[in-house]
Amino acid sequence: MYLREKCYDIHELAKSNLHVHTSFSGCAKPEMRMKDMVRRAGELGLEMVAITDHFNDPATPILEKNLCDRFVLENYRDDVKTKFLFGAELSAVGVGKYLDSDEVNAKLDYRLYAANHYHLDMWEQPEEKSPRGYAEHTIKVLTALILSHRADCIAHPCIGGYVHALGDDKGSLTRAITDNELGDLLSLARDNNVAWEINEGEAIEFADFSERFWNIGKEVGVVFHFGTDAHTLQNMDTFKNMSVLEKIFK
Ligand SMILES: [Zn+2]
Ligand SMILES: [Zn+2]
Repeated sequence: MYLREKCYDIHELAKSNLHVHTSFSGCAKPEMRMKDMVRRAGELGLEMVAITDHFNDPATPILEKNLCDRFVLENYRDDVKTKFLFGAELSAVGVGKYLDSDEVNAKLDYRLYAANHYHLDMWEQPEEKSPRGYAEHTIKVLTALILSHRADCIAHPCIGGYVHALGDDKGSLTRAITDNELGDLLSLARDNNVAWEINEGEAIEFADFSERFWNIGKEVGVVFHFGTDAHTLQNMDTFKNMSVLEKIFK
């Protein structure tokens, strides 16, 4: 379990990368081997890295995998000072529906939850496949997730990037969520010690929403975490797009 202090300085937040995949995740590059990732984290001077491989199947041996990664870290760390968390990108596949067991959940260092991988077959879809339909479904899934106390942080929150039904206008989902609804959701997370991820790529792609989310989040007093959702060694770098991020997260 890990939760940062409240911090509204994007440079400070980006000193840690709390969303990194190893090659255990099918979508990550084969170069994402623990030994090389440790070296890369050291080169980048990252304070903290969270290993968050996908958990899209209840049979995923995530604890055993994390144990192996931890062993490699301890053997190849040399003088690398980066602190590593061994967690997972867990799946909230519907309202109150999770793929991880309570036992697995309790043993992870860091529980980052995706609630919007709507492109996957097992994900629950709203009856009404409109922007507002998805917005309401997203709010219900996140409300249940926050109240379940299973999550430390929510990955790429609310973003409609994975919703095929929205066609080319993926931003329509977040535009269909009102400021009041966003405020309520952010406050609920604050009261239940759940952080919100600033996901580098999604934040830039959905800059208008990111700015709105950041401003309401600051006002409400939530905790933000930063992650690049790295699937390559190159993308472990949290500062490569800082000039763009600075304009969004002011
Ligand atoms: Zn994801
Ligand atoms: Zn991810």
